[in-house]
Amino acid sequence: MRIDIVTIFPDFFGVLDVSLLGRARRERLLELGVHDLRDWTHDRHRTVDDTPYGGGAGMVMRPEPWGEALDALLPEGEDADAVVVFPTPAGVPFTQALARELASERRIVFACGRYEGIDARVAEHAATRARVLEVSLGDYVLNGGEVAAMAMIEAIGRLVPGVVGNPESLVEESHEAGLLEHPSYTKPQVWRGHEVPEVLRSGNHAAIAAWRHEQALERTRRVRPDLLPPEVETR
Ligand code: SAM
Repeated sequence: MRIDIVTIFPDFFGVLDVSLLGRARRERLLELGVHDLRDWTHDRHRTVDDTPYGGGAGMVMRPEPWGEALDALLPEGEDADAVVVFPTPAGVPFTQALARELASERRIVFACGRYEGIDARVAEHAATRARVLEVSLGDYVLNGGEVAAMAMIEAIGRLVPGVVGNPESLVEESHEAGLLEHPSYTKPQVWRGHEVPEVLRSGNHAAIAAWRHEQALERTRRVRPDLLPPEVETR
């Protein structure tokens, strides 16, 4: 998979060189390109924003540098199967299901907005070349799309085959099986007076699986009842 990121703050993405994603890049499981939007400006001040039509506070990102950036990354007639993701609080929620869907794409371009966002015609035009998704990280407002893109890239990247060493560890996670994950423990058996539940030390695999399922249900009921399917919710 290849991911390109367009931003006015390329330095944000230095962290993609560390940990699992860093290794995935070095092993070429993931190709990542980070591009400075200002490289597609032509004035002395490398301007990317202007005042909003219709008035109002703040500035809006001008379409021209974005148009040139997307022309360079997705030349007309090529890469019709690419997806352009615009992180925005006004987008569809980012979920594990969407991460999984995007993990099977060959090419994704992230367009990171700043100020009051990007001139709406940029997404409109991008949709003539590629599939466009406006995606929100959550119901709050960040200063820019960089942190949102980074979170999405991490969630998508770990689902790309080979990135996480043991694929089984991806199967039972929160938001994969429809429930939040059960609590986890490691050694020592007793820590500061808190003991690891006995069933986990019993070696009885069926009892362990049943306990974990019950814990996952209880946690989901308590913290995220909205995730429960209706038949479970009413029990
Ligand atoms: N005026 C915009 C609105 O109310 O929808 C918010 C602009 S925000 C200050 C600047 C940029 O941060 C957005 O263009 C977007 O790229 C990014 N951003 C902010 N919150 C986000 C969120 N919850 N999810 C994804 N991106 C977000």
